[in-house]
Amino acid sequence: MERNAIGIIGAGVAGIFCARTLQDHGYTPLLLEKGRGVGGRLATRRTEAGFQFDHGAQFITARSVGFREAVECLSSKGTAGVWAGADREVIVGTPSMNAIAKSLAEGLDIRRNTRVDVLQATESGWQAATAGSTFEFDRLVITAPQPQTVDLIGKEHPLARAISGVRMSPCWTLMAAFPDQHEIPFTSRSAPDSYLAWIALNSSKPERPDTNSWVVQASADWSEKNLEREPEDVAQELLLRLCGVLRVEPSSALHASAHRWRYARVEEPLGKPYCRNDAGTLYLGGDWCLDARVEAAWTSGRAIAEDLLGDLNAG
Ligand SMILES: Cc1cc2nc3c(=O)[nH]c(=O)nc-3n(C[C@H](O)[C@H](O)[C@H](O)COP(=O)(O)OP(=O)(O)OC[C@H]3O[C@@H](n4cnc5c(N)ncnc54)[C@H](O)[C@@H]3O)c2cc1C
Repeated sequence: MERNAIGIIGAGVAGIFCARTLQDHGYTPLLLEKGRGVGGRLATRRTEAGFQFDHGAQFITARSVGFREAVECLSSKGTAGVWAGADREVIVGTPSMNAIAKSLAEGLDIRRNTRVDVLQATESGWQAATAGSTFEFDRLVITAPQPQTVDLIGKEHPLARAISGVRMSPCWTLMAAFPDQHEIPFTSRSAPDSYLAWIALNSSKPERPDTNSWVVQASADWSEKNLEREPEDVAQELLLRLCGVLRVEPSSALHASAHRWRYARVEEPLGKPYCRNDAGTLYLGGDWCLDARVEAAWTSGRAIAEDLLGDLNAG
């Protein structure tokens, strides 16, 4: 059994930035992350053949002063840069979207491949059980997507009821690569109401490998209807569609694979940056509290850390 004053479930942007803020104030939270890497939906896939795809968040927009400053700091370290390939200039991670998460996570105590299966309230806080270990925390922050958070705390928990109005939608994402093309029709195309809601030439982003590689996001409606299909089957269907748009032969594809994001985007957010119990021993947060954007995850993580720090310093 391992003990730590503060535990955080999830090393996406919300969990990482919450931990980063706490650590900057002298605390050493322990993050438990089920994935192999950090970043959650700020994700990048690399293939053995050298293709690279940002298959989660495509770019970042910064509206608040605080997040703009955080992005400037990332830019000064060389982990973020400008991409003019969208309909306006936006910020992307360099050399990958995931580089942003990796940079923010430097120096944090993160246990990867550690999925919390069961949570139990104890007299002094929370016990989190994984396949191989048990962790005890005085205070616990959960930053998993809302449906997974409800699974962890149980539907009957008062906080589960408090967040029951949140809705998230899925997204099937195609990653495809082709030999070099003479004419590239566009570097990105957004058509929220069509079957292929977003198409982007991943390699047009700065510092990416110089390959003809594309990311396609199916619409939320189509993704919902096709959610339980096999990834290979979805990849083939989306590839055919993409080839029609790009006017290339499907048989020329050098790579085609699909990723299912079961909880991709927030449709109905909570409307406040986090939710906590009266004792301050359990916090729930993530993008789903505010908006379907990286900035919302960052804002939620930071707000939780600030509230926790207020409590810890008062106690
Ligand atoms: C396809 C797609 C496109 C997007 N495009 C954009 C975009 O262009 N711009 C933008 O700003 N945003 C975009 N977003 C949204 C953005 O990615 C998210 O808002 C943000 O990354 C969410 O961060 P988070 O920390 O709240 O959640 P997540 O990134 O989901 O992090 C939660 C973490 O918790 C972990 N976890 C879950 N359950 C457990 C458990 N039981 N035990 C341990 N760990 C667990 C997960 O593995 C994950 O790493 C997009 C998202 C998707 C999916």
